[in-house]
Amino acid sequence: MKFYQLTRAQRLAALVNAGQLSDADAAFLAADTPLPAAVAASLTENQLGQFALPLGIARDLRVNGVTYQVPMVTEEPSVIAAASNGARLAALNGGVQATTTPHLVEGEIVFEHVADPVAAAKLVRARTAELMAVAAAAHPSIVRRGGGLQAVRVSTPGRFFKVTLVVAPQAAMGANIVNTIAEAVAATLTVWLAQPALVAILTNASAQLTTATVVLDPATLGTKTTDGSAIAARIAALSELATCDVARAVTHNKGIMNGIDAAILASGNDTRAVEAGVQAFAAASGQYQPLAQWHLTATGTLVGELKLPLQVGVVGGAISALPAAQVAQRLGGYKDVVTLQQVVAALGLVQNLAALRALVGPGIQAGHMTLQARALAIAVGAQGDEINRVAAGLATVPKDRAHAQAVLAALRKDETT
Ligand code: NDP
Repeated sequence: MKFYQLTRAQRLAALVNAGQLSDADAAFLAADTPLPAAVAASLTENQLGQFALPLGIARDLRVNGVTYQVPMVTEEPSVIAAASNGARLAALNGGVQATTTPHLVEGEIVFEHVADPVAAAKLVRARTAELMAVAAAAHPSIVRRGGGLQAVRVSTPGRFFKVTLVVAPQAAMGANIVNTIAEAVAATLTVWLAQPALVAILTNASAQLTTATVVLDPATLGTKTTDGSAIAARIAALSELATCDVARAVTHNKGIMNGIDAAILASGNDTRAVEAGVQAFAAASGQYQPLAQWHLTATGTLVGELKLPLQVGVVGGAISALPAAQVAQRLGGYKDVVTLQQVVAALGLVQNLAALRALVGPGIQAGHMTLQARALAIAVGAQGDEINRVAAGLATVPKDRAHAQAVLAALRKDETT
């Protein structure tokens, strides 16, 4: 039986048997363990309750020769199915290759009333060592971990004078680390420049990029009705359309973020930080661009490449407070930031592949609506095993509320007669 056809208990057992999940983590997931009350109350203001979402995995995503089980938290039924399908197609072709540039996060300290920016820049450059010492004193533990402030740059955006701090946050995402350092350095600069800083905070923009690439033999892309080389050519055309049509690029990228947001959320990272950075990167050229692009080579192979910034960590923030995020990090095998970035980028690429292949082939509604049928069944009140039975009953009729209600009513009538 395929993984998705197993019961939840069987899936957990399969992962334990494969050495991909510990007994303790399997028990944690099976019990639907809620957040401890004190943790929930501490993570947000005005807490009223908890908000559950399903956690699943994209199976067997091969990245740089290693196979990962990628935990994803999402409410959209087709996302994990598509990711697993994309991972399968990539694996048939040797998997995804991924690279990253060093994990650095920048802080910006901006002043509004610098009369002589050239002199101010000279001052900052001449006394950079002092700023380094201030930064180290503000966050000594990150220095002990081999990170901290690495470089200081000066620029003049518009009428402002800006000092950029380049910080290595090591295994953390780094927002708080950078903000702590930025505020301390800003206090020193305030004295030197005789004025308060307008702002001292990290930027969620990032020049540190993760790249995922896959090279596909079109023969592996065929569907029941369409030849693989025709699909490959249409995927390349659809990708080209996204480079010149913002309307398409936005939806193209939404499909990529379906996977990325779900994996980032499961890992306990800040989805808003990632989204803000990614969307800024997509628009950086002045025209909003697709994050992943596909082209045919002279030999007829289809090459896909996704490039994006991913401000994430494997420690810090809410990660240690969220037991499910820690389970997800272990299940995902995210031993360091580089692994997390590369797996997440590879996931985004195969998610895009699955979506484009469906779009240029059978369309996405066939698969979507089959999965959506279960959500529809729940919406009309189906419970327990009624959910799958109502979904099955919708296979040959329009998948709408009225039909779902009728199928459920018929089912219940049969049960009582
Ligand atoms: P933390 O403030 O939790 O800092 C990470 C901590 O993890 C460090 O202080 C360090 O403490 C500890 N740590 C343990 N091992 C390591 C290691 N190997 N490398 C680095 N640190 C280690 O988190 P971040 O600075 O990463 O900030 C992320 C949080 O900030 C997220 O919750 C995010 O939502 C939030 N945030 C985001 C903003 C944004 O994106 N604009 C703005 C403000 C906050 P020690 O060394 O003392 O053990």
